[in-house]
Amino acid sequence: MAACTGLSPLCLKRYNTVRQIMVWIFQSLSKNTVGLDDYGYIKMINYLRTTKCSAESLLLASNGPLPWESDEYMKPALPDDPLLQIDVEELSEAAAVTLSPAASDEVPLLLQRARKAEDRAQRAEEALARAMDDLHKLKLLAQGLVLNADTSRGPSRTGAIAELREDEDEAYFSSYGHYSIHEEMLKDKVRTESYRDFMYRNMDVFKDKVVLDVGCGTGILSMFAAKAGARKVIAVDQSEIIYQAMDIVRSNKLEDTITFIKGRIEEIDLPVEKVDIIVSEWMGYFLLFESMLDSVLYARDRYLAEDGLVFPDRCNISLAAVGDTQKHSDRIAFWDNVYGFKMTCMKKAVIPEAVVEVLKPETVISEPAVIKTIDCGSVTVSELEFAVDFSLKITASTFCTAIVGYFDIFFDKSCGNKVMFSTAPDCTKTHWKQTVFLLESPIPVKAGEELPGQITVHKNRKDPRALLITLDVAGRKQTYSLQ
Ligand code: SAH
Repeated sequence: MAACTGLSPLCLKRYNTVRQIMVWIFQSLSKNTVGLDDYGYIKMINYLRTTKCSAESLLLASNGPLPWESDEYMKPALPDDPLLQIDVEELSEAAAVTLSPAASDEVPLLLQRARKAEDRAQRAEEALARAMDDLHKLKLLAQGLVLNADTSRGPSRTGAIAELREDEDEAYFSSYGHYSIHEEMLKDKVRTESYRDFMYRNMDVFKDKVVLDVGCGTGILSMFAAKAGARKVIAVDQSEIIYQAMDIVRSNKLEDTITFIKGRIEEIDLPVEKVDIIVSEWMGYFLLFESMLDSVLYARDRYLAEDGLVFPDRCNISLAAVGDTQKHSDRIAFWDNVYGFKMTCMKKAVIPEAVVEVLKPETVISEPAVIKTIDCGSVTVSELEFAVDFSLKITASTFCTAIVGYFDIFFDKSCGNKVMFSTAPDCTKTHWKQTVFLLESPIPVKAGEELPGQITVHKNRKDPRALLITLDVAGRKQTYSLQ
């Protein structure tokens, strides 16, 4: 356009008319609407050469039947006409790209606008992601503040369980007054036979020893210990179940060996100064739920002889990755449509509740990682709250939808015949099942890669028998409660 400035009005008019013709020719070439194929093009050039028609008449002609349709225009008007040397197909491709000078002027402008819009959209997306992240952090902060609001108890040497008032712990002990819970425990063969086998196969350890059974329930462990050769067994329980235990022991003629004391181990005085062995079945879901280990540690520190033994003597807590998209959608997507109603807000509410269930072993998609080892002979109450980094070696390329937690129990120390049992998903199921922490959104994972994470285990300050477990997997943090 700039090249036209300074032309006379006539020249300018001719320029515009020729420009219009060129546009028309280019459009015709690109759309091929007026028969401007190879032959049409040759005929048109020869027609123009022969008739020397004006640009205006050609434009008028372009509205009606083509004036060069006759085959007579196939004959070249000029020998070796340079215009007939042109590759029309190439020209038509070029025409498709530059449809009109007006349009081609607008393309860079449109591109520029599109780029700006794209930039704005990207910046907005980034700001939204930052806001969502801040919101999530605020939510975690608020959750922590609410759940840990009662800090009046503060840290102590013996821990919050020892300091619970009787009325505060009443519900816990009355739950053990129900017989069904003892039936369930006794029928858990993995659990009960492990205790039995450890005592019966290591009678040398028990011979003539004074044994304390912390939380005797129906008295089963006390009777195993008596049969294994213990000289004296002191059986303690705060729950009403102890009255049944007294009858049971009499029925089995073991009353001369087994002595009962009803009360909380933290509140009673034993008839002896020291004991040689402490046995207890204190394990809860995810091992530490119930915090009964605190009571065993209290008894250890107060009553265990210098070279005494605590059984079980060692425990592990392990984690593994789970890939079960079906289960994830059964629990999460389910809330999108419940009998035709939207209950989507429930998704946020169900995630923070850890689930105790038996996991299908084939849904485990990583090698297990031990996140905590407890030596019952030396661990302190404060070490039962901890934070630890872990890494899960993924064994299948899929989505990680949850993290599973479980524990292993060992009767090792001083035992010629070691006994252990595991609550892992690929082992015989126990009444502890497994503890499943569902992830809010599944994480894509590849076989062979390491999935990094951090776990924090804390007692709930409002209810020290309940746990708060925070998992940070691949940068996504979620606090779960187990109650
Ligand atoms: N030893 C039994 C019962 C185990 S269940 C068995 O193996 O079948 C745990 C028992 O410990 C419950 O009966 C509960 O009442 C008791 N218990 C828990 N904490 C206690 C405490 N601090 N003092 C006394 N008994 C306790």
